[in-house]
Amino acid sequence: MSSTDDIRLTGDPVLQEVCEPVENVEDVRELAESMLETMYEAEGCGLAAPQVGVPKRLVVIDCGWGSGEKTPYVLINPEIIEVSDETRVTGEGCLSFPGVTVEVERPRRVVVHAMNLDGDVMRYEADGTLMAVCLQHEIDHLDGKTLLDHLGPMARMRVKRQVQEAIEAGAKPGDVSNPASRS
Ligand SMILES: [Zn+2]
Repeated sequence: MSSTDDIRLTGDPVLQEVCEPVENVEDVRELAESMLETMYEAEGCGLAAPQVGVPKRLVVIDCGWGSGEKTPYVLINPEIIEVSDETRVTGEGCLSFPGVTVEVERPRRVVVHAMNLDGDVMRYEADGTLMAVCLQHEIDHLDGKTLLDHLGPMARMRVKRQVQEAIEAGAKPGDVSNPASRS
């Protein structure tokens, strides 16, 4: 059973690994359920297996639960099938980067195919929504990429320093702004 204390933070080498495909859905059922619990506990909208130290191609997402109802998605071996040329910049947080929000430019629209826990291949399409950002952000994790990989060298240094300061100031996974600069 994972908890927010098990969330790997930026700098952990597992976050740079290219994850292995899941071969058998049954092998990741418990992991997926425990990742969903961890994600809800940290008030995140997505979590990738490497963020709990498991380098497998599995992510969990729920972009709508803040509004009340839980709609959990489990995506096994997700693949981005299509992206738009049009991009969009949004402020992104990450459970592995407590205390910071980073502006990232990504395609506005994305189509993803992934297996669910029943072994069915599902199609996810999102355009200009949090889900569109979240799908791309979580699939990045499976390829060993994080927010830092979307930044130029100067911004990367700045964000690394901000995360370090936020962690030292007591930020935990799920905190989205820097407590040092909040007051
Ligand atoms: Zn993340």
